[in-house]
Formats: sequence, structure tokens, C-alpha cells
Amino acid sequence: MADTKYIFVTGGVTSSLGKGIIAASLAKLLQARGYKATIQKLDPYINVDPGTLNPYEHGECYVTDDGAETDLDLGHYERFLNVRTSQANNVTTGRIYQSVIEKERKGEFLGKTVQVVPHITNEIKERIQILGNSGEYDIVITEIGGTVGDIESLPYIEAVRQLMWELGDNNGIVVHLTLVPFLSAAGELKTKPTQHSVKTLMESGIKADILVCRTEHDLSDDLREKLALFCNVRREAVIQSIDASTIYDVPKLMLAEGLDKVALKKLDLPEKNHPDLENWDAFLERHKNPKHEVTIGLVGKYVELQDSYKSILESFIHAGAENEVSVKVETIHSEYIDEATIKNKISHLDGILVAPGFGERGIEGKVDTVRYAREHKIPFLGICLGMQMAVIEFARNVLGLKDANSTEMVQDTPYPVIDLMEEQKDITDKGGTMRLGAWKCVLKENSLAREIYGEETIMERHRHRYEFNDKYKEQIEAAGLKATGYNPDTGLVEIVELPGHPWFIGVQYHPEYKSTVASPHPLFVAFVKAALKYKKEKNSATLA
Ligand code: GLN
Repeated sequence: MADTKYIFVTGGVTSSLGKGIIAASLAKLLQARGYKATIQKLDPYINVDPGTLNPYEHGECYVTDDGAETDLDLGHYERFLNVRTSQANNVTTGRIYQSVIEKERKGEFLGKTVQVVPHITNEIKERIQILGNSGEYDIVITEIGGTVGDIESLPYIEAVRQLMWELGDNNGIVVHLTLVPFLSAAGELKTKPTQHSVKTLMESGIKADILVCRTEHDLSDDLREKLALFCNVRREAVIQSIDASTIYDVPKLMLAEGLDKVALKKLDLPEKNHPDLENWDAFLERHKNPKHEVTIGLVGKYVELQDSYKSILESFIHAGAENEVSVKVETIHSEYIDEATIKNKISHLDGILVAPGFGERGIEGKVDTVRYAREHKIPFLGICLGMQMAVIEFARNVLGLKDANSTEMVQDTPYPVIDLMEEQKDITDKGGTMRLGAWKCVLKENSLAREIYGEETIMERHRHRYEFNDKYKEQIEAAGLKATGYNPDTGLVEIVELPGHPWFIGVQYHPEYKSTVASPHPLFVAFVKAALKYKKEKNSATLA
């Protein structure tokens, strides 16, 4: 066994307490002290990955460089730590069972009854230790999805119990995140739900080492003493996690509470240096003290749930801070955009982003939106489906190819300007079969994309089945919409832009997956800058 130490993060009382943010914040602090830390998320659902889930179910599906479709918490890990995650960082019950069943079919357990304990729990333990055994990390933080007491989580909790025992003292600790609710009628914070959830954990043989308590009000000393005594943790291991105005405040709040110090002490590791958070602080300073404001419309069909576009919203925070601009994102439902409503919904915006998506619902509103942005010269960024809509709009309204469409929406469209790739045509399985992960893209000289990236070859992450149809490339380019980025191996078009328009770009890939606090994505940075320029020019024109 490598020398790696393990921190397990469990949750109690309710879901949605932000285990991912606490895990990412703790990892950030450990990283800032000079430790190599990574995070893993174990999800107790039976889907093999979240790729087949509707965003309304579980929020955005995040994609890693190696093409894994993963939980959106991995996005937080990358954004906080600025390190790449991979397939190994997200494991679901579906994947665990799939692999155990495959082994059973191969005869690896020949003669044995295959059971949750030990076969499923062993598989979980193996998956937890893959990252640790790679030798790349000093500390692996494993977040167990769900809430203790859930039927689904039981095998994970048992695997953690066994692993804690196998790892031995000071090599593994459990951080338990709970809620300390405020009862306004009584005017009091209540500790009982936390006591119960710690007890539930105990019944499974796990003792929490550190309690992180989500709360709307400060925990008094008395309350901390009480929690320590009744939950059987040291006084300094009762950590308050008070509601913050931004998730990016959480690492500093955890630092002030000493979460990293207690964790290191329990793992018998030295504190090393005081966390170096200079760049983080500089980012927060810019984020909280913007000099300007822009309003950007995010046009999509999953807008009712903010988590559906998590990475895009976070990318705007990074790009806004970089430009010292507060980016107000106005989410607009594409289904309700039509000729009658468009002016009202769109004309005041300083920039328009047409979002990724699947299926037919709401696409005509997206096409109308692109047209408005193109004709009124409003800065425009189309991502994935948004880029495809830009091509369709151009084909219909500039080239006059009436009813041009993607074969995803209308199979027998007369002008399939967006079509299925040849190698996708025989695929019928839905899970994990799209064009996924990082692919190379070459940027043409003298293009806006090349200017923005400042490099000739980039790597960006993909998640789609349909592509710009090469058959229409010449015709579309001749009419003015230029293909300025392409895949050097397949020739597939990855970027379109409109010279003559102040800022109009559509990208087949997802830039939002790669934006981090330490390294805001250049495309978002340039988009926000273009929106600000547009706003200033619009204002000076009205004044004149
Ligand atoms: N539905 C489109 C495709 O599969 C776009 C996907 C996306 O926006 N991620 O190609």
C-alpha cells in the first residue's frame, strides 16, 4: 500500500449541503500547504455514468479530458484545484456492479456466491485506492454521495468502515457534513439532527473524526461544546460552515475554522507552510470589487435549474473577475422565444450565449436568437448545440436554404447542414457513445479564435454526436460564415465565426469545462470583454 492518506467525506441530515464544495475547499487548503491532493466522488445510483441523465435530474454532466461523463462536483474540483480529473475520480454504483458482474461472467469468482459483502465492497475499496496507489497523491479525498442512512449508500459506508480498519490509525479520517437548522419560532439553532446522523453513522461502525456543520447563524461556544460532547469529536473538530455569498469564499472560511489543521493533525501529517492563497485572494478581490457590469443572456431549455449550466455560470465568474466586470447572467427559456417576444427578451443584452442541449424542444427559439444577435451585431457565443444553431440559422437566412436543419431534429431535412458523423450512424447504444473528451483543434491564421487563444493548436473537450456537415462547408464559407478551427485528424469543423460582426463565435466543443479560478477560459474572457465594449459603445451612441 502506498503512503497515501485518505479523507472520507460523508453527509447527514439532508442532501444538497455542499459536500463537493467542502471537499474541494479542504483539498484547496491542503494543496496550498504544499500537499498533492485529489478528490473522488462516489455516486450511489445505478446509472453507469450521469451521461444518460436529463439535466433536470442531476444538473450538468461534466466531461473530463479522458472522456468520462461525470458528476458536476468534478467541475468544482477542477475549478478549485486547477488539476485535471479523470474517469477514476467518479465512480457510480452502476459502474461497480457492471464490473463485478463482468468478472463473474469471466469466471473470476468461480464456485463462489457473489455478494454485496465482500464482492461489491471489495470493488468499491479497489476503486477508492486506484488514485492512492498511483503514487501521484499524498492525500485522496473521497466524497460519498447521498446521505447516511440511505439504502443506496450502505455498501459504500461498509467499504469505508473496512478501509479505515485496514488503513490503520492516522491513515484515514472521516469528515461528516451535517446541517444545524435554525428554528425561527424557537429562535434557536438545533443540534439534534446532527446528533442523530452521527449516531446513524456509528451504527454502521464509523466514528466521525471531524464534524462540519452547515448553518445560517454562527455556532456559539456552548453549542460547539455540546456538539463535541454528544457527537464524540474533539472541540476543535467541530467546524462551522456558515452560508457564504460565493462558493469561492468557502476555502477561506474553512481556513479560519482550522479544518485543514485538524485534518492534518488527525492524519499525523505536518502543517508545512501556511496556505499560499495569494492568487486565490487576488481573484476574490477582483470578483467582489467589479468596476463594470454587463448583462449576458444564457439561452437554453433547462434554465429552470441553475445546476444544468453550472460550468458556464462559473466560467462567467472567472472571466468576469479577470475583466473586473460583474457578469449578470439572465437565463432565458428558448422555448418561449419567438418573433413576437424576441425583442423584449433579447434586445437589452450586452452578449448572448446559446447553450448546449439535446433534442428538438426549444430549438426554433435558439435559431431566432442567433439571427437577432447576428443582425443586431450583439456579441454571440454558441456552444455545441448553440454552434449548430448558428450554422442552421446562417444556412436558412443568409444562404436561403429553407428548412435547413440538423438531422437530430428532422431526419429528412432537405438541407442537413448538421449531420451525424459516419462512425456514429451504426451506434444504437446511448451510454458513453458520443464524441467525448479532449480533441485537438487547429486554429486558422488571422481568425478571431487564433487571436483569442494566441496559439495554433488547442485541446478542448467534446460531448456530442452531430457535426458540421462538410458538404456545405464551401457554400457556407463563401457566404461569409468562416470555419476557423478544425480537427487536424478528421478535418471536422470545430469553430465558426463571422468576420464583419464585432464578436460572433460558435464552438462545437465545451470551453466551460476547462475554465478554472487560476486559469479563466480565454474564450469567456474575450466574450465578456466584447460584451463590455458593446455596452460602452451602445451607451455612448444613446448619449450622442
Ligand atoms: N445535441 C447535439 C449533438 O449531439 C449537441 C450536443 C451538445 O450541445 N452537447 O451533437
